Amino acid sequence: MNLEKVDTLIIGGGLSGIYAAALLAETQTSFVLLEARSRVGGRILSPSHQGFFTDMGPSWYWPVINPRVSALAGMLGLTGFPQFETGQARFQARDGHVETVDGYPMAPPAWRLRGGMIALVRGLCNRIPENIIRLDHPVCAIERRSDGAQVTVGRLDQKPRCRFAAARIILAMPPRLAARSILFTPELPYDLSQAMLRASTWMAGQAKFFALYDTADWRKIGLSGQGFSLCGPLGEIHDGSGETGRPYGLTGFIGIPALRRKTGDAMISAILDQLPCLFGSAAGQPVKVFYRDWAREAFTATEYDLRSAHNHPEFLPPSGNMGFWDDTVLFAGTETADHMSGYLEGALASAERAVSLLRGIPGIKSSRR
Ligand SMILES: Cc1cc2nc3c(=O)[nH]c(=O)nc-3n(C[C@H](O)[C@H](O)[C@H](O)COP(=O)(O)OP(=O)(O)OC[C@H]3O[C@@H](n4cnc5c(N)ncnc54)[C@H](O)[C@@H]3O)c2cc1C
Repeated sequence: MNLEKVDTLIIGGGLSGIYAAALLAETQTSFVLLEARSRVGGRILSPSHQGFFTDMGPSWYWPVINPRVSALAGMLGLTGFPQFETGQARFQARDGHVETVDGYPMAPPAWRLRGGMIALVRGLCNRIPENIIRLDHPVCAIERRSDGAQVTVGRLDQKPRCRFAAARIILAMPPRLAARSILFTPELPYDLSQAMLRASTWMAGQAKFFALYDTADWRKIGLSGQGFSLCGPLGEIHDGSGETGRPYGLTGFIGIPALRRKTGDAMISAILDQLPCLFGSAAGQPVKVFYRDWAREAFTATEYDLRSAHNHPEFLPPSGNMGFWDDTVLFAGTETADHMSGYLEGALASAERAVSLLRGIPGIKSSRR
């Protein structure tokens, strides 16, 4: 079987891995990025309708506390706009009763990106040479070797699809998912694998809904599109309209725990029954809907993520390690960041750290920041 040799192998093509690849593209090193899915972006997913990009993963960045995201957007020539919050909100009690209440503005202010969050990933991909990103390449095993590591793509219970040898690896995927789905040889130290399994994957247990409309009838009656519900299925709703209007949008997170959620069609139907109670009858007749249950995504969530954390966990590099096997494998991915972990900002920060730790490979300079 073919064994492809590179200096550095990046595993995972979410924002963190793609950013690491763009940083490495500025160096003389040889590298390849292996992505399990047939698309890049990971938890960033922005399906479009008539040229308008929705966000089924992250919608927001917070310029005041996200300097890396803001700088990257600027460098890629992308622009953002503040989350629309003008008007009153709606609150739905457990018995279904609905009230109009004061809005709850996000602090610090949240911004959205024109072109959807995927614009960040697309912009970075334009800076990565061809044939570096290998889609449909799920890594199932990583074995330490005297000169680095050997990586197997495929499934352990089937004939391996292909193999790679690299001096260093940047593991840019959720640590819990890595500990659960990759066979490491030699076995990882017990404390490290425990710490990786303990690091819940942020938002992996969530599901998100997006509805698009030709008109925003809720705005005409003084509502912002913000809503909170104790009976669901949507638990939290926000305006998802274009910056200057059409298409108008309502987007929200499902309030029902992953284990109790029904199929996508059943959830959409229940949501379209709920929205008119909050925002008027037209809210039940969108021109387009999108629904994504992240808990059902094998390359994001594990069964441990189905009981998702309600509060943002205190993430840290697993067991205090930036890598293992004498830094043959370096952690990236937002859950391993020591600042703004869980968020886009943490995905970028952890990638910068991993690339800056790739010492000893010719052409690698420390990260651009
Ligand atoms: C619904 C939702 C809403 C969110 N809202 C926000 C928000 O508003 N603002 C914000 O800052 N953050 C938000 N987040 C979090 C944000 O999406 C993440 O912080 C960020 O996208 C993580 O990027 P990452 O590259 O670290 O991980 P991921 O995006 O998870 O990338 C990991 C990649 O590894 C790949 N992979 C997995 N297993 C393998 C394998 N065995 N072999 C090869 N590849 C593999 C995956 O397919 C994936 O592409 C949200 C997340 C979700 C799900």
